[in-house]
Amino acid sequence: MGNKKTVSVLGLGRMGSALANALVQEGYEVTVWNRTSKTIENTRSVATPQEAFKSDVVVTCLSTYDVQQPLLTNEIRTLVNLTSGTPEEARRTARWAKDNGVEYVDGVIMAVPQQIGTPQSKILFSGNENHHVLHAFGEPVHVGEDAGLAALYDLALLGIMWATFGGYLQAVALVGSEGITPEKFTPMATSWLNEMSTLLPEMGEETHTRKYETDVSALDINVSGLRLLAEANREQGLDTTIPRALHDLFERAQRNGHGNHSIASVIEEIRK
Ligand code: NAP
Repeated sequence: MGNKKTVSVLGLGRMGSALANALVQEGYEVTVWNRTSKTIENTRSVATPQEAFKSDVVVTCLSTYDVQQPLLTNEIRTLVNLTSGTPEEARRTARWAKDNGVEYVDGVIMAVPQQIGTPQSKILFSGNENHHVLHAFGEPVHVGEDAGLAALYDLALLGIMWATFGGYLQAVALVGSEGITPEKFTPMATSWLNEMSTLLPEMGEETHTRKYETDVSALDINVSGLRLLAEANREQGLDTTIPRALHDLFERAQRNGHGNHSIASVIEEIRK
């Protein structure tokens, strides 16, 4: 163990358990606390958060900030907060830490529990540049001085994930309504997604320069396409929430003068 810091983990759900196990693997002396009794091999379980606060570093991984905040006290020396929240929740906790003399690191986990401690796991963190024990969980990536930035990146990236998964599930339901299996359809979907992802740098540039002239595909034609998508889903007896939401947003941008512009112009509507 040598002179390694002692670490406590608060919250032994799916993710917290993976974090505690990764710390053990890295040779840390680990104390764990969970609301309902739970044990992790080669760690010391304590009955109260206060007992866990005696460690040099306290890692929190609870379901929400609402659950976490009442547990925190100024007995903590260093708090590594890995509970997901909004940027404002992170900033509020950073202010609380400063006011209470607690060193604070705000991090978000861009991985699933099974990836913790592998090269696939990235831990974005912001505010304090000292990443303390984060290296045990994956590659720590500092994203800025403002403590809210890790949460901002987290939600931005998860937003892409949820929109993609929602689009995929809608597509599987649509082709499935005619008996086409996910097994047959998914290779087409992944190849299409890979192709689409190559368009993002140019789209990003357009949102930055706000120049939306296009000789590729105008918003008008995409609004028509989304109308067809919603209609086809309705005809096949499926829910139309996702295509209608996209249609309505794109159509608003069209009404506001972007019909002849590229899809990137929809950001003008989002920024309102
Ligand atoms: P989870 O399996 O549902 O575990 C939730 C944890 O919060 C458990 O330890 C639970 O304790 C505790 N908890 C819930 N309500 C509580 C309360 N009122 N008082 C005290 N403790 C309470 O969730 P998870 O997947 O581990 O996620 C934990 C955090 O990691 C979340 O913020 C999540 O967004 C983030 N995260 C998760 C993943 C993932 O893939 N799972 C990925 C990235 C980030 P009990 O065991 O007693 O219920």
